[in-house]
Amino acid sequence: MKLPKIDGERLWSAHMAMAQVGRIEGDGVCRLAASDEDRAGRDLFARWCEEAGLSVRIDGIGNMFARRPARDDTLAPVLIGSHLDSQPTGGRFDGAFGVLSGLEIVRTLNDAAIETEAPIEIVNWTNEEGCRFQPSSLGAEVAAGHIALEQGLAAEDENGITLGVELDRIGYRGDSGIALNARAYLEGHIEQGPILEENGEDVSIVQGSMGVNAYSVTLMGVEAHTGTTPVTRRKDALYAAARCITEVRALAEEFEPDGRATVARLLVEPNARSVVASKVVFTTDCRHRSPASLDEMSRRLRQIVDRVSAECGLGYTMTPYWTVPPRNFDADCVGALEAAASAMGLRHRRMVSGAGHDAIPVSAVVPTAMIFVPSRGGVSHHVSEYTAPEHLEAGCNVLFQAAVRLAGIADAGGQRA
Ligand SMILES: [Zn+2]
Repeated sequence: MKLPKIDGERLWSAHMAMAQVGRIEGDGVCRLAASDEDRAGRDLFARWCEEAGLSVRIDGIGNMFARRPARDDTLAPVLIGSHLDSQPTGGRFDGAFGVLSGLEIVRTLNDAAIETEAPIEIVNWTNEEGCRFQPSSLGAEVAAGHIALEQGLAAEDENGITLGVELDRIGYRGDSGIALNARAYLEGHIEQGPILEENGEDVSIVQGSMGVNAYSVTLMGVEAHTGTTPVTRRKDALYAAARCITEVRALAEEFEPDGRATVARLLVEPNARSVVASKVVFTTDCRHRSPASLDEMSRRLRQIVDRVSAECGLGYTMTPYWTVPPRNFDADCVGALEAAASAMGLRHRRMVSGAGHDAIPVSAVVPTAMIFVPSRGGVSHHVSEYTAPEHLEAGCNVLFQAAVRLAGIADAGGQRA
């Protein structure tokens, strides 16, 4: 059976309508997780789903699942989705694209009166962004069983208000079971980087995610007067940090394009103009798609800190604060997305995600894959974030073809096509 195409104009209109919810100056959105704006976005999404004939259920951490009936409703569903929460000054497409693509796929199936063999469910995961409650992808982490429900509900924002209290307040703490039972999960997302645009490509098929080893490094020196202490007699923690940062940059260049290494945060004590720094705390963030290479990067990083500290006469500590293993997405799901992109004649490449996404925890328990669509200028988490309508449309068509292939089409006799 030749499948129809999704309606690109309708998909764009849904993005523009959702972007009115929590709209901020400069065409951005602010829909912090479990805020009033998040509730309004959820309400709009739920209304659209009900109008499309879907039944919406909410689990205990506020994840929303909108189910389209199938020929065999006992089969595990194909999930399609992402998140509707945003950064405080977020854009119109991050997260929304994955959820609204799911909606457009269902609308297209309805219009063409296509019955799938297994159900299709659209999912909106709670608190992907991690800017109000930590960690990020909290709803997906709880659903994947990596974080206990009680622990997730107890996450506090900066005012000490818990996610559980806020979900109750906005009416989105549900009672359906947490455990995920799905035959596949497909997520569409904006790239948030410059690669597709620079190469004039339409879509990337994401085959997995980089692992992360992140440390907090503390260098301990000695305060000294900047006017009276010769440099060779100093134990200057800021000078040592600068040398470490330069070497981490060289390490990063050596491991690109499959790896990343970054120092992004620096705290200096006493941070006074006439005092040699006695203490510097900085973060190091190493990422790589291969576990062995990630270990190698972390080993080299420790060598850098150890050697520079010794040469500068300093003590140091290195404490891990974030560790995520690299994940490979499911070969069948990756294959279904790639076949769809090829069949449509789209310019596509494979990619590994260096950013966090709901698909990453979900992939531990459900066969999963993602696509990225181009981000203009590589910009995201900003009001100017933009993806062209034709790229949203192409990406949604890829998700549509793959989702229907994974769910199967029911024929008149009830056999899987
Ligand atoms: Zn996102």
